[in-house]
Amino acid sequence: MGLDEYQRKRDFERTREPRGKVARGRAEKKRSAERLQFVIQKHAARNLHYDFRLELDGVLKSWAVPKGPSLVPTERRMAAQVEDHPLEYGGFEGVIPKGEYGGGSVVVWDRGTWEPIGDPRAGMRQGKLKFRLHGEKLQGEWVLVRTGGPADDGKEHWFLIKRDDEHADPSRDIVAEQPQSVVTGRKVEEVGADADRTWTRRGEGPRKVRRGPDASKVKGAR
Ligand code: MN
Repeated sequence: MGLDEYQRKRDFERTREPRGKVARGRAEKKRSAERLQFVIQKHAARNLHYDFRLELDGVLKSWAVPKGPSLVPTERRMAAQVEDHPLEYGGFEGVIPKGEYGGGSVVVWDRGTWEPIGDPRAGMRQGKLKFRLHGEKLQGEWVLVRTGGPADDGKEHWFLIKRDDEHADPSRDIVAEQPQSVVTGRKVEEVGADADRTWTRRGEGPRKVRRGPDASKVKGAR
């Protein structure tokens, strides 16, 4: 897919998202040496959703998951495939300006590495991608299954499903339990309210994070 669609949709004079480029050669080298990165960004745009991204062939393959992932193996979460994103997008947390494509707030909800189970390129082609996640919130085996041809909106629709293993847990609602960023601990609502901050790149750490007063130092507060 490449990054043409990603770049066409955005005005890089107006948004601080990265222009990015396909990281050629990286995927092959990485595959033997280390694992591939994955990230899930919680994105409060016009409609709240979770952007699920898996590194493959120098880009982040991306799906918008309206309800986010579920640890319950019987729950299939709709995942609309969207344009590939550059690898450095995985570090993006902050505000996309109002009126721009995807305008709203983003937090890095989970991140880590992923391992394909079987050939991931064949999986993408055939519409059944099995993999293992090594994230801070999500672990174990998952599968993305394509539901058929392109939907009305032209996007291919898939389901994101937890496979039944020791990391599955029907008693938990992970997105409700753990809304916060794994990078800064903030909720997506706090990022939106803190509009003077823009996004940070992976590894740079947060800039100008304003914290609330420390309750232990405020008289009468708990
Ligand atoms: Mn999004």
